[in-house]
Order: sequence, then structure tokens, then C-alpha cells
Amino acid sequence: MAGEKEIKEIYENGMKILEELTSNAHEIQEQMLEEILIRNAGTEYLSRFFVHGQNHKQNFKTNVPIVSYEDIKPYIDRIANGETSSILFADPITQFIQSTGTSEGKPKLIPMTAESFEKRMIKPLLVDLVMKKCISGLDQGKSFYLFFVKPEMETPSGLMASLYTTSYFKTQIFKNGLAKFCTSPIDTILCLDNKQSMYCQLLTGLLLRDEVVRIGSSFASVLARSIKFLEDYWKELCSNIRTGYLSDWIADPACRNAMSSILTRPEPELADLIQQICEDKSWEGIIKELWPEVKCISSIVTGSMSQYIPLLEFYGGGIPLVSPNCGSSEACFGINLKPLSKPFDVSYTILPNMAYFEFLPVNNDGGGMSREFELRGASATESSESTNETTTVNKPVDLANVKIGRYYEVVVTTLAGLYRYRVGDVLKVTGFYNKSPQFQFVERQNVVLSIDLDKTTEVDLSKAITRAKLVLEPLGIMLTTYSSYADTSLTPGRYVLFWELKMKGSNDVPKLDAKIMEECCGIVEESFDFTYKSLRKAGVISALELRVVKHGTFDELMDFYVSKGASISQYKPPCCLKSEEAVKLLNSGMVGTFFSPKTMF
Ligand code: AMP
Repeated sequence: MAGEKEIKEIYENGMKILEELTSNAHEIQEQMLEEILIRNAGTEYLSRFFVHGQNHKQNFKTNVPIVSYEDIKPYIDRIANGETSSILFADPITQFIQSTGTSEGKPKLIPMTAESFEKRMIKPLLVDLVMKKCISGLDQGKSFYLFFVKPEMETPSGLMASLYTTSYFKTQIFKNGLAKFCTSPIDTILCLDNKQSMYCQLLTGLLLRDEVVRIGSSFASVLARSIKFLEDYWKELCSNIRTGYLSDWIADPACRNAMSSILTRPEPELADLIQQICEDKSWEGIIKELWPEVKCISSIVTGSMSQYIPLLEFYGGGIPLVSPNCGSSEACFGINLKPLSKPFDVSYTILPNMAYFEFLPVNNDGGGMSREFELRGASATESSESTNETTTVNKPVDLANVKIGRYYEVVVTTLAGLYRYRVGDVLKVTGFYNKSPQFQFVERQNVVLSIDLDKTTEVDLSKAITRAKLVLEPLGIMLTTYSSYADTSLTPGRYVLFWELKMKGSNDVPKLDAKIMEECCGIVEESFDFTYKSLRKAGVISALELRVVKHGTFDELMDFYVSKGASISQYKPPCCLKSEEAVKLLNSGMVGTFFSPKTMF
């Protein structure tokens, strides 16, 4: 299906191809499903659902169940353990993509074939073409993208498992294509030491500042982290630019080698200029100052990433924020055809050749489900905290039958062995581009806390707290109620828990032993999943904070919500707070604050 030829074709005729794809969305979907079924009806997984001679496509929706990762994990494990027969897919599975979603505390492994991997590479090209078409001047310079890789993992059968982006950055198609228009040398992107990689990429971005027309990263959180790194390292970066000498701690030979052709001579004037800009007390608009030719900031800023919008707007000083695409390890969903729309108005258009999509209607009457609404300050927000759940209802519909204004959970059938697979993301359909649905990203089901790529659900949080509070019970201390929020006012952000504690048998505030309370923090963090722990270890999330509040504080919180219109009879304390006022209220009842050890993992 896709290959070098198709990718070349995209470069030449991308916009026309996009028109064709979206105009024939339904037909393309039907063809894709048919092809997947014809090729894979004989696999161990699918053959169970079809009687010999049956029309597979006709019976697909009645016979093949909608599944989640845990349902197909046994099949995936067998492939990872070396079974080669066509278990899920007729073609060989060539690698796994590690998703940030977790299963039993480990990253989910999503199967991938050579063909589906190649096909996905079309997306960044289309994104690039659309951006260049809509934003003038983007084709007249370089993109300062901050890209990073993560170490690969080998399965027992010798198949590699890596993040999609890590695999993509290693392909010739990236190296010979988009990478040529990026400031960062490929070896600095591929450096496994993220700190050295970040330093070299920032140094290159500064050295080539006059050529930079676009700055970005895959997710907004990465860009926020990079700016924090710049705050910490700008003096050293300036010193390297002034002397023409790369800091000794950049020890990675490939990075040093790559930098030797960029940092070629002392540039004291450039160093002075950057120093002058960075010395300014306020960094408002710093991106514009440092990279005067930048036309846009390109980074996903929807869903949980919307928490970074104020920060990026502050640093950007008016440069448009572009949220380019939406997808997951399982499949690419869509791209943004109106890159200049405001972050909260971003809709993505489904690319019908990326997977066969079905949409499970979701009952979303909680109001204010998405953080978008919350940040806009819509009144529905406050009550949503007590009903912060979506529930899936009804049968799935296909792409042609989604309704504008409705919420759906995405279900994909892919070119690599996933059949009617629930990705977990919820989308709101906002319209159609030609015949292809457009949607706003809402959020994963039941996610309550999120920083960077971590997504902690209500269940994760409750399990962790149930374990931690066991430490308090022998001391006669009771946890009466709790809540939490993701504090991203500082970088890196942290999760903050509020616990209302009292002595058994009285309402007295217990005497709090710092060591024991810190132990509780540690147990909570220990109980979180692999993604949380990896991000915490990498310094992307900082130590969890536990704020103990005095007896009665949560009653005041209830009064607060009731005053905002919540019903007393249905009130349950929000497991995660999104309103600043509510956080302020709980803070006012605080009698102690405790942190996990800084280096836990
Ligand atoms: P992963 O499978 O680890 O690549 O994570 C993919 C997840 O990131 C998706 O399932 C979404 O929850 C989230 N995501 C991807 N694209 C977007 C987007 N444009 N806006 C918000 N969240 C996104």
C-alpha cells in the first residue's frame, strides 16, 4: 500500500490527495475493511468469528466483538514470546509500538507490520503540507523541533518495542525528508541521554535562530519542559556560543560530532544578544525575541495538553499555537486542516486511510467533560467535577453516520492486527470536511489526573490511596475524604493530594509525624503505573505532595459546590479538582504539607 513511492507522491500532490481522501471517506473505509478482512480472515483470532463461506464484511459487526487491550493481551504476549503463525495478522508482525497506556503497570505493546508502519509516515507529511499552505513563510526556513527518543525494549522473541516516534526518527524517510528542514541534527535527536540531546538541540536552535520559522514538539508538555531547560542552561549555552566550544559534559560521541559542524567558531555577538534577551526579568514573549522569524508554535495543545496553553501563550508573545494532529500508538486519527484556529476551537479531520474507524456513542451528560470547557470557565464545569465520567452507550456507528455535536469513543480496526479495538479516547464530532468527520479531542475515559503523558484514572488514584492509608490505621488516624489536583503552575508539575484526617472517635486533628506522612506519599507514588514512574524518574513530574486539611474542610467544599448549583443529594467529593477556587478553599484548611522523597525511582 504505502511506500517510498507513495510518500514522494504526497510531497508532490499532497493537497489533492487530501481532497480525494476526505471526499471519498466512506468508500475508502469500506474498501479498507474489506481488504483487512480478506487478508486476515484466516488468522487464528478472526477465523473464530466466521463460519466458512460467510461474507466477512457483512458479518464483521455482528460477529467480531469490541475489545480492549486486556482482551487481546494473551495473543500479543504469544507474538512477543516468539510464536510466528498468523495469530492476529497474516503478515509478520515486525515490531511493537509502546503505548503510554499501561497494562499491569507495563506499557501496552501494539503490534505493527512493515506496511502499516510505512503507511503512518504519510501523516507528518500531510501535516507539514497543510501547515505550509496555511501559514505563509513556513517554507522559507527551518523548523526548530525538539524531538526525543526513548530506549527500545526487546521482547523475548527478539522483536523490538519502541515509541512510534523513536522508530520513525530512525527511518530513512524521516532522515531524508522532514529532518532536512529541521535545525536539530539527527544524531542529537537519536541521543538516548535526553539531557545531552536537549542541550544540543537548544544550542543548535539558538545558533540557527535567524533561520527558524517554526518551533515545536510533539506534545506541548515537551516544549514547556524545554523552555524550563533553557531557563536553567541559557548562561552555559551562551558561553558555548561565545567561545565556540561545546561543554565537556556533552560526552555522547555522535552528538559531539554533529555539533562540530554547527558550533564551528566563537560568536560573541550572538552570545551577547541571546544573553541580553535571557537576562530580561520577565520571559514574556521570549520565543519571539529569541527566534524573530518564527511564524508558529507547533505542538499538541488539546485534551490534557491544554493545561500548557497559558504558558506557551506567555512565552510565545502572540505567535499562533498550532495543534497539528491527533492519534495514538494504535492508529492515527486525524489532522488539523485549519492550523491557525485558536487552541480551544481546534478540530481534527479523520484520515480515512489510516484505520477502519467505528464510533461508540458516549453518554456525556456530565457537562464540561473536556478541559477545554473548564479552561474557558463555562459554568457547567463546577458540577462536572462530581459527575466526571463518560459512559459508553449504544452500538457503534461508522464514519458516515456520526452526528455533529455527539461524543464518541474511538474503536479501530487496523492494518496490523487490531480488530474493533477500543482506544479509550473520547471525541466530539464538530462537523465534516468533505465526507470526513471532524472532531474535538475530549479526553480518555475516566482520566482524572494528567501531567505530560501520564494519565492517572480515578481507579488508579483510589487504589493507591487505599494502600497508603493502611499506614495510618494502627495509629488510630482515619482518612475521611480526599481529593487531588495536578499542579502545573511550576515546571515540572506535580500531583497534589488533599487528605482530611481525624482521630478515630474524635474530630481532633491528629498529630502528624512527618516520616509517616512521607511514607504515605511514597506508597501512593509506588502504586502508580509505569508511565508515572518513568516520568517521575526522568524529572518530568516532581515529587507528589500531600496536604492534610483539618476536619470540616471538605464540608466547606461541598457548600461551595452547592452554592454553584450542585445537588446535595447527588454530591460526592470530586476526586480531582479543576477549579482554582476549590483548590484555594482546601488550601485554607491545610494543617500540614508533606512530600515524597525527591528521588524515589
Ligand atoms: P500513545 O499511545 O502513547 O502515543 O498516546 C496517545 C494518546 O495521547 C492518545 O490516546 C491520546 O490520549 C493522547 N493524544 C494524542 N493526540 C492528542 C491530541 N491531539 N490531543 C490530545 N491528546 C492527544
